[in-house]
Amino acid sequence: MTEFSSDPIIAIATAPGRGGIGVIRISGAGLRGWADALCGQALTPRHAHYLPFRDRGGEIMDEGLALFFPGPHSYTGEDVLELQGHGGPAVLRRVLEDCLARGADMGLRLAQPGEFTQRAFLNDRLDLAQAEAVADLIEASSTAAARSAMASLSGAFSTEIDALSERIVRLRMLVEATLDFPEEEIDFLEKYQAAERLGAVSAALDCVLATARQGLVLREGLHVVLAGQPNVGKSSLLNALAGEDVAIVTPIAGTTRDRVVQQIHLDGIPLHIVDTAGLRETEDTVERIGIERSWAEIARAQVILHLQDARHPDDPLDAQIVQRLPAGVPVLRVWNKMDLLGHGTVPADGSIPGKSERHASREVDTPDNMPLRISAQTGAGLDALRARLLAIAGWTPGTESPWLARERHVRALEAARAHLEAAAMHAAHSDQVLDLFAEELRLTHEALCGITGQFTSDDLLGEIFSRFCIGK
Ligand code: GDP
Repeated sequence: MTEFSSDPIIAIATAPGRGGIGVIRISGAGLRGWADALCGQALTPRHAHYLPFRDRGGEIMDEGLALFFPGPHSYTGEDVLELQGHGGPAVLRRVLEDCLARGADMGLRLAQPGEFTQRAFLNDRLDLAQAEAVADLIEASSTAAARSAMASLSGAFSTEIDALSERIVRLRMLVEATLDFPEEEIDFLEKYQAAERLGAVSAALDCVLATARQGLVLREGLHVVLAGQPNVGKSSLLNALAGEDVAIVTPIAGTTRDRVVQQIHLDGIPLHIVDTAGLRETEDTVERIGIERSWAEIARAQVILHLQDARHPDDPLDAQIVQRLPAGVPVLRVWNKMDLLGHGTVPADGSIPGKSERHASREVDTPDNMPLRISAQTGAGLDALRARLLAIAGWTPGTESPWLARERHVRALEAARAHLEAAAMHAAHSDQVLDLFAEELRLTHEALCGITGQFTSDDLLGEIFSRFCIGK
């Protein structure tokens, strides 16, 4: 980790735009004298000082609070100065530029994205999983995701990982010690009940993995393509699924015409929905960019929701729609407007058998793929649809992930489990190849440590922190 520079850094920490308050944050080693000079008074650590922010010529640019946090008891572990002024872009820029000019001698420069948090990690204020949780908390799109990110940030996830690591380390110590005394190798596994210990660690690891998978669903959500002819009720279904969340039915940020990807939440799980109605041929450049994004989104789709009018399930146009969609993505068929069929009520599981339930080769007629019968208007059958979507996402209803996890974490846990299994296999064989057993334990430990960042390459760190926002 020698690649990282320790120049003092500065950034506007609040979001761009206008707001009541705007915060400028400066971090570096030995900032105290400079901070006092900048503020024109000796700053008491961790005290709010109300003062004018004057430029080099003495003119007042703004007024607000200055807070000085001496290292190591600060966010980054270095000395940190925070200036809280008014949240206007021009005034913040002016204060920032003045600070940069006055800090030029000590090498003050603009911070890279995530650089404050990266320093917190490098100075052991946070481990890597906690640092990632900072970004996840900022990006959380539902209360459930925010709550779980906060749990990760406060170390709930890291504690579990550390506990697993510790158990592996204890076992490793026993094995490594035995390897130095070959005559003891023979009965090592028996003497220390290695197989039982392994089994217990494996079970604990499986629990952590299951929770991490739930955390991943909460973070990433489910990518859904909504396909269907005009007027079958796609918008109505979106609104009905969104339910009380309806205010969150928002276009993904971007150009005004980039309205084809929408996000709603089911049980706090984000559903990224691409409405194929938006995917038309167009000459308009802006709209085309939106459409290209939609195809990119479709490529990531985990399920296609094919909505049909229950009154015409055999419409040949529907078969054509299905053929145009990406191969390899499962299709969930939904018959809407059941209320117009006059069957009376639709059962909650939407499972009335019908005569024309199969028409496109990709829609395999398994019990899981009977058309779901719903009415977006009355809400009938929607619970079954919600349950099906959450099941496809891998979410177990009623559970709440105590922490938010990333793909990276799940992959590392899976790798750790694979190495544990290999170790167990060596333990099960009577020829007892103890050094292979030891090696698998070492690899298990390494995979776990990768999560919290003890053994993590600079490249990976760079990639993780570059996705943060500036000023964090
Ligand atoms: P889209 O073009 O596929 O997005 O379809 P819309 O959601 O705009 O719906 C088209 C029309 O069908 C509207 O008048 C809706 O009120 C109506 N509609 C949608 N779902 C239902 C339903 O389940 N039952 C009934 N009776 N009408 C529906």
